[in-house]
Amino acid sequence: MSINLKEITKIYHMGDQVVHALAGVTLDIAAGEFTAIMGPSGSGKSTLMNILGCLDRPTSGSYRLDGQEVASLSDDELAVIRNQKIGFVFQNFNLLPRMSALQNVALPLVYAGKAKHERLERAARALTMVGLEHRLHHRPNELSGGQRQRVAIARALVNNPTILMADEPTGNLDTKSGDEIMQIFTELNRQGRTIILITHEPDIAAFARRIIHIRDGQVVRDERR
Ligand code: ADP
Ligand code: ADP
Repeated sequence: MSINLKEITKIYHMGDQVVHALAGVTLDIAAGEFTAIMGPSGSGKSTLMNILGCLDRPTSGSYRLDGQEVASLSDDELAVIRNQKIGFVFQNFNLLPRMSALQNVALPLVYAGKAKHERLERAARALTMVGLEHRLHHRPNELSGGQRQRVAIARALVNNPTILMADEPTGNLDTKSGDEIMQIFTELNRQGRTIILITHEPDIAAFARRIIHIRDGQVVRDERR
């Protein structure tokens, strides 16, 4: 799924204050790219991710996803794209503590209405893809940070999305676990998935083939390697 942004703005109103979180972002990301978005705190990275992930709508500008203008889609249509085409990974893993790894990963398939045997089979397969086939029945607090993030990646993958978005996925991990997570993203990209990664760590961004730098809500540099 190709991504085409043209002059995207996002304005937040806080009382009588107006925040231009995105101030005209024009950007194309082709299907299958591995892109890192870098920038200082407050530069608009999360706002951009929320718009790219159809979690939020821009104030103005055009966003075409796979050729289709996102502004013309209903909230229900956006929810379908979000749930079926895009996987999300966050800094804090966002796992449910009382559920096993397998149950956490199977959860999106409950919402998708899949039968139980299919849910468990697909969840086990996703956990195997991230090297956790020996941890299916562990709860999050029985897993290391790196393992928890791998559970979260498996959950993001279980619907077989074409785009994977990760917001500071290594922010709570030590260097070794962070590198392992990045190797997983590298492999998922090699298999053809589009990866969009937000990070402020140059060593983490270095795993990507393209690094987009944003500052004050604008793209200031776009490097391909
Ligand atoms: P980053 O992810 O690079 O730290 P953000 O996208 O979170 O940047 O924020 C960009 C700017 O928008 C900041 O000035 C931030 O304070 C502001 N902002 C982000 N979200 C909101 C919101 N929901 N309401 C008001 N202002 C916001
Ligand atoms: P893996 O070989 O799957 O990468 P690790 O090397 O990360 O596993 O961890 C080795 C073992 O220590 C595993 O059994 C893991 O569950 C356990 N472990 C690691 N960190 C923690 C933790 N914070 N709490 C409980 N168990 C942990």
